[in-house]
Amino acid sequence: MSKRKNNGSKKRPHKPNQQVKKQNRPNTSGNQGGGKKSTIVEVTCQGLTNEGKGIIQWDGKQLEVEQLLPGETAEVAIYKKGRFFNAELKRLIQTSGDRVQPPFKDHESGGCQIQHMKYEAQARFKQKVVDDLMKPFGKPNPIITMDHPYDYRNKNVMTFGLNKKRQIISGLYAPNSHRIIPMKGSIIHDPKADEIIQTVTELAKSFKLQPYNEDTGQGFLRHVMVKVGKKSGEIMVVIVAANPMFKGKKNFVKALRKEHPEISTILLNINNRNDSMVLGDQEKVLFGKGTITDTLCGLEFEISAKSFYQINPVQTEKLYNEAIEMAELTGKEKVVDAYCGIGTIGLVASKAAGKVIGVELNKDAVRDAIRNSKRNNIQNARFYQADAGEYMSQLAAQGEHIDVVFLDPPRSGSDEAFLSSLVKLKPSRVVYISCNPETQARDLKYLVKKGYEVKRMQPVDMFPQTSHIESIALLTR
Ligand code: SAH
Repeated sequence: MSKRKNNGSKKRPHKPNQQVKKQNRPNTSGNQGGGKKSTIVEVTCQGLTNEGKGIIQWDGKQLEVEQLLPGETAEVAIYKKGRFFNAELKRLIQTSGDRVQPPFKDHESGGCQIQHMKYEAQARFKQKVVDDLMKPFGKPNPIITMDHPYDYRNKNVMTFGLNKKRQIISGLYAPNSHRIIPMKGSIIHDPKADEIIQTVTELAKSFKLQPYNEDTGQGFLRHVMVKVGKKSGEIMVVIVAANPMFKGKKNFVKALRKEHPEISTILLNINNRNDSMVLGDQEKVLFGKGTITDTLCGLEFEISAKSFYQINPVQTEKLYNEAIEMAELTGKEKVVDAYCGIGTIGLVASKAAGKVIGVELNKDAVRDAIRNSKRNNIQNARFYQADAGEYMSQLAAQGEHIDVVFLDPPRSGSDEAFLSSLVKLKPSRVVYISCNPETQARDLKYLVKKGYEVKRMQPVDMFPQTSHIESIALLTR
């Protein structure tokens, strides 16, 4: 267990509510009902959705309840929302042996949708989702779990706001809302990063910096992001503000460094957009060199404020090692790394391959990939900015010979252009890494229909405490 499981809020996750009765009553309990009428009913949870929500039956309907586990009985409030019904957990009556005390109360989980499940139960849940989805292709291997499934994030972000006493606070947005839940930390954040975020919040108070208000567009301070090189120990702090008028920034930086001499670099990022993206385009280095480095699978990567980097490096090494082992490289192969991000998989694989071609849509990521190949003195990798599907169609049209394809698409999965060209290119091995097994299963079905066979499937727990699932599949012709 994390040492920090004890210093978050130690409140019971679901306070018994004595006034709750089985009758229609106006909901006064917070963000979901918002004054709408609700019905309180007693239910037993029958299973979990693929997002880890409890499944209940009510009035002939199947509803989902956050934070409810199979076998548990509970009182839930049912709200009508348009044509649909929403259910919210009110009081647990019979709890499951798979339940643990989460460190933050109900909705205040900070993106940790399944932190109320014991880690073994989380692994069982993810295994079942993958097993069920992949049934047409065989039986996946047991999920690769994380030894210490806490404190793993190398990128940690919190947002600033005001509390009722109009004091500046930092925390995370409540789901589907502009309300900020003040948080001192998260069980999946890097503990040092959370300490620094707290210091930044205290300093913001003493420097009288005003938090930005999303609704009015007034104010200055928006977010703080702390990136940590888990191996190198280097730390980047990014202060995200609505405009560049940072009054007292020299003294602010001095005070922050005095409190945390371990900080390697501090940046100011200007985000004057009105959307949910954390970072804006403009940035200014306030201290240090503006980037940090970290090592992954023996290679060095330079990490900038904006660049994408897998957020759980411990599990990423296991994921990449597994994926590269599946490719059975002998040193001669021509390899495509599609949806390559900053080139990590391709660069790690390049040592064992003849030639690597990386393709990625995001031009900053491609620039980073090229920089990373130079930094590691890798001569046999090339990176291109393109839509992966279009690029593959070109390769197919040119009649290229490709031996191995790694693909690691976003949650929406790959597309017909990519998959049909892949089939034309006839690589002997395809290693499909996915952060969404539902779209992966859909794409595997297509490839199997076109003559590929799924040889091995390996789920990896990249995101403990959350409902996200990562899985690798090996296909051969
Ligand atoms: N393989 C990388 C990144 C995977 S994330 C790693 O392990 O770190 C998925 C990547 O796909 C993102 O970098 C995203 O920018 C990229 N992407 C999304 N749509 C794309 C498309 N149509 N063509 C190419 N790349 C795309």
